[in-house]
Amino acid sequence: MNKSLVVGNWKMNCGLEEAITLAKEISKALNELKGVEIVLCPPYPYLFAVKNEIENSSIRLGSQNLYWEEKGAFTGEISVTMISEICEYVIIGHSERRQIFGETDEIVNKKLSSAIRFGISPILCVGENLVQRENGEAASVVSRQIEAGLDGIQSPDGLAVAYEPIWAIGTGIPATPEIVSEVMGGTITKTLNKLYGEERTAQIPLLYGGSVSGQNIESFAALDCINGALVGGASLRSNEFSDIASITSRVKTSG
Ligand code: PEP
Repeated sequence: MNKSLVVGNWKMNCGLEEAITLAKEISKALNELKGVEIVLCPPYPYLFAVKNEIENSSIRLGSQNLYWEEKGAFTGEISVTMISEICEYVIIGHSERRQIFGETDEIVNKKLSSAIRFGISPILCVGENLVQRENGEAASVVSRQIEAGLDGIQSPDGLAVAYEPIWAIGTGIPATPEIVSEVMGGTITKTLNKLYGEERTAQIPLLYGGSVSGQNIESFAALDCINGALVGGASLRSNEFSDIASITSRVKTSG
């Protein structure tokens, strides 16, 4: 069975002290949680401080981004090799990167390939916007993002895929379990099966993201097609993030 993951994407939030406190509280609450790997993705400048706080715990560290070149004249970028020295995970293709920073499927593909080459587990984010959903294009958008993002990648080592419908991110309006089942159990699973076969696909954790909260996580975790969650806003509140992770652990380890 594929591994369960609960990932906190802190985005461009927190000050240093807040980041340290958050990491300390989460690590105290969730160390050695059964059956679920917890990943914290703080902003770049706080990676080392957070790493110190979680060092002796089961919590893992992730980056929110990387640049695919190893080194050179790329002012302001953080290279895949630099990230590989400190992080085990990296979020790639988040909708905010695609929409605000113009990341194309081609760029996502370069980032994914480099992460895998350097042994970092990439979390590939995919999802349609509201207009695409209303036009009945959700399935084609999501399958195109997966196929193009993974183009030429023969062996998707460490890959996880997060379905994050853009209209559900930060809105307080999550996708319904029906939509999630249709996209994750249907489109995403079929697309990955086509690329890598059923046996390999069964090892790729599938995460849901988009207004996940302590109140709604149970309805998502209960779905067989889901192996965990990518959490934005609620990951900045240690109590709520801990509830989300604990509920996921309880649901995924029972039965
Ligand atoms: C995200 O940005 O990845 C996300 C899921 O945000 P939120 O949980 O705040 O909707």
